[in-house]
Amino acid sequence: MDNAIRTALVAERDRLIAELKDTAIIAPGTMTYGSQAAAASQVFEQQRDLALRDHNQGQLEHVDAALARFDAGTYGICTSCHLRIGAERLEALPTAALCIDCQRIAGAARRR
Ligand SMILES: [Zn+2]
Repeated sequence: MDNAIRTALVAERDRLIAELKDTAIIAPGTMTYGSQAAAASQVFEQQRDLALRDHNQGQLEHVDAALARFDAGTYGICTSCHLRIGAERLEALPTAALCIDCQRIAGAARRR
């Protein structure tokens, strides 16, 4: 499998780790409530940071899993049906663990 993909995945992992370090989370106890509006905006900012952090954390897990599959020699193979994932799909989404068909099924199950 293409080494350029692995290099891109490693670069993406480094970027995500750096971003996760940057996202400082304010502990609820240290927040100062000057006014209702300030408190609301603080909560909003904190939630946005948490959402971003969650997103990055999730992305990082996908990237790590993809790199593990690379090292195991199973990169590009669907983890559900064990068929090859289309090259175009991997190009668009290098961390894809599922082929487009299995992803559709998984997506439908999640939307329930
Ligand atoms: Zn599949």
